[in-house]
Amino acid sequence: MKQFWFVVGSQDLYGQEVLDTVAQRSAEMAEWLSDRLPYPLVYKVTAMSADQITKVMKEANYDDECLGVITWCHTFSPSKMWLNGLDLLQKPYCHLATQYNLEIPNDEIDMDFMNLNQAAHGDREHGFIAARLRKPRKVIAGYWKDEKVIERLCEFEKVAYGVHVSRNMKVMRFGDNMRDVAVTEGDKVEVQKVLGWQVNTWAVGDLVKVMNEVTDEEVEALFATYKENYDINTENIAAIRYQAKEEIAIKKMMDANGCKAFSNTFQDLYGMEQLPGLASQHLMSLGYGYGGEGDWKVSAMTAIMKAMGDNGNGASAFMEDYTYHLVKGSEYSLGAHMLEVCPSLAADKPRIETHHLGIGMNEKDPARLVFEGKAGKGIVASLIDMGGRLRLIVQDIEAVKPIMEMPNLPVARVMWRALPDLTDGVECWITAGGAHHTVLSYDVTAEMMRDFAKFMDIEFVHIDKDTTVEKLEDELLIKDLVWKLR
Ligand code: MN
Repeated sequence: MKQFWFVVGSQDLYGQEVLDTVAQRSAEMAEWLSDRLPYPLVYKVTAMSADQITKVMKEANYDDECLGVITWCHTFSPSKMWLNGLDLLQKPYCHLATQYNLEIPNDEIDMDFMNLNQAAHGDREHGFIAARLRKPRKVIAGYWKDEKVIERLCEFEKVAYGVHVSRNMKVMRFGDNMRDVAVTEGDKVEVQKVLGWQVNTWAVGDLVKVMNEVTDEEVEALFATYKENYDINTENIAAIRYQAKEEIAIKKMMDANGCKAFSNTFQDLYGMEQLPGLASQHLMSLGYGYGGEGDWKVSAMTAIMKAMGDNGNGASAFMEDYTYHLVKGSEYSLGAHMLEVCPSLAADKPRIETHHLGIGMNEKDPARLVFEGKAGKGIVASLIDMGGRLRLIVQDIEAVKPIMEMPNLPVARVMWRALPDLTDGVECWITAGGAHHTVLSYDVTAEMMRDFAKFMDIEFVHIDKDTTVEKLEDELLIKDLVWKLR
């Protein structure tokens, strides 16, 4: 079972009674927190020597079920003991600077109490060594039963799970990038080194072969699932069945190869009647990543951000900025795609429709899900290759119920206000080099993406309510220098 390890710092100067109390309380805290966190926190050890700490960190590195390590110093714990172990640790690391007791007990407090409950002291010594090592970490301070602390621990665990998904990511590409497009390109060897992604290509012809072997029973079963989840708003049932066939074949190929994300391109559909629309949308709802026009970067990021969301498959989706409403006072971006918007963003039950798709090599009208995106705070994220390094750009957004019906728009649509406002937001986004493709998420936060970037050791740029083009230009200039020096 996927889990986190709780490693608690102490030393052997306190005597067995104190150490027993530390161990017993640490186990109690881990158990209590486990009931409130997405993944259990397993108390491992009250660490008292360099050998013990090095051993547990090595074990954490090699245990596939261990997603990360959470440390805390109940007592003082000299940090030279931690140096070798922390230096070796390759999993996401969180320093929980907490305290067993909420209050200072007025009558009870004496020097024994002080020696047992000296996290204020121990956690600073512990923090220093990670700072000295330049170790990427998440520091969370506060009482362990505090709601905000628990929420932030939840987010740390989700980010660490995202790191795990990233390091095991395999992307299946059908066809290359859309001809001449720059921002969706990237160095696949560098991405494998830095993020762990294995990005490889499979022939569209192979997919067509697998499609031809899909049985009627398989198609019927998936059709029933479509019917259960979506309203059918077309007479063209054959097009829906064709999408089912595409979905089954793509899923079979991905599962057989351990892939969690895929990309395709409308420029390469040899042997296929229609671009996968509904097929890609339903696969995304199952947690698979997708990127249009050969965009494998956004595809992998979609899968990772979905995994970082609620229950390991949150409301995150491949998105594209399409067009603007520039009317003063009601300025919005309209996001959509030719077909492939994940129904995890939908405000209501999506409808299956078939419409003509002029772009690409579609012989027949592809079936797709049509819906409106829900309102709420979110982010859009874009990973770009700056040549020698990756930059992750995240912008805060506020999605709204689309302000018009758009009855002739045959695709799913999401409308939002980018921060700080539409035009400044666009200027910032363009200044940073962000793509037209993004991952839009309602339940992954900018802070989570910052931590993800920190653990993956990539550049992070955040555009929020306070960002100005002037400040951003300076920030990018400094970051450019810093990253060139590394
Ligand atoms: Mn696109």
